[in-house]
Amino acid sequence: MQTFIDHARNFRDRIADHHQAREEFARLATGQSPLALFITCSDSRVIPALFTGARPGELFELRTAGNAVPQYRDGQGPSSEAATIEYAVRVLGVRDIVVCGHSHCGAVGAMARGDDLAGVPSVRDWLTEQVDDELPDDDGPEVTAAVQRHVRAQLERLRGYPCVRERLAERRLRLHGWFYEIHTGLVLAHRPSADAFLPL
Ligand code: ZN
Repeated sequence: MQTFIDHARNFRDRIADHHQAREEFARLATGQSPLALFITCSDSRVIPALFTGARPGELFELRTAGNAVPQYRDGQGPSSEAATIEYAVRVLGVRDIVVCGHSHCGAVGAMARGDDLAGVPSVRDWLTEQVDDELPDDDGPEVTAAVQRHVRAQLERLRGYPCVRERLAERRLRLHGWFYEIHTGLVLAHRPSADAFLPL
């Protein structure tokens, strides 16, 4: 933790020392107009800005355990996920939403393997609600097939959000399913025509 504290303590000075960075950060104060809503897992190994090259202000992020998008329910109680999606679409007007799963995902892997999650009941209850219990058999550590199926299911769930449905109908929004390999940096995208994840 100390290295994080040291870095954060000096961060402003490092910005101030570089003319270009100073101007870029100062511009952020005028508002945000991110290009995309990026929904991915909370996993510490998945850093969207790293593999997309996004600068501050360019990606609006929603991170959940297992990059899950809760099913939209009319009259549902407050939901951080629904609020984030609605704000991104209706207020920020993002033109693209990416749901990005990743290899070696602990959340999807636990469900694919049927792990005993009794010791982490909040995790168990969240994943039971969010992850399809008919995941393909996937014993490998990368859980590729399970994660890719899970990503497709989250894209379907997104289509159930009224704000997403409207913008899709108006052709003002595109949905993307991605799969990121944490051990290689490879990014695959779901191609609906082939119903397969292929290199970008
Ligand atoms: Zn994960």
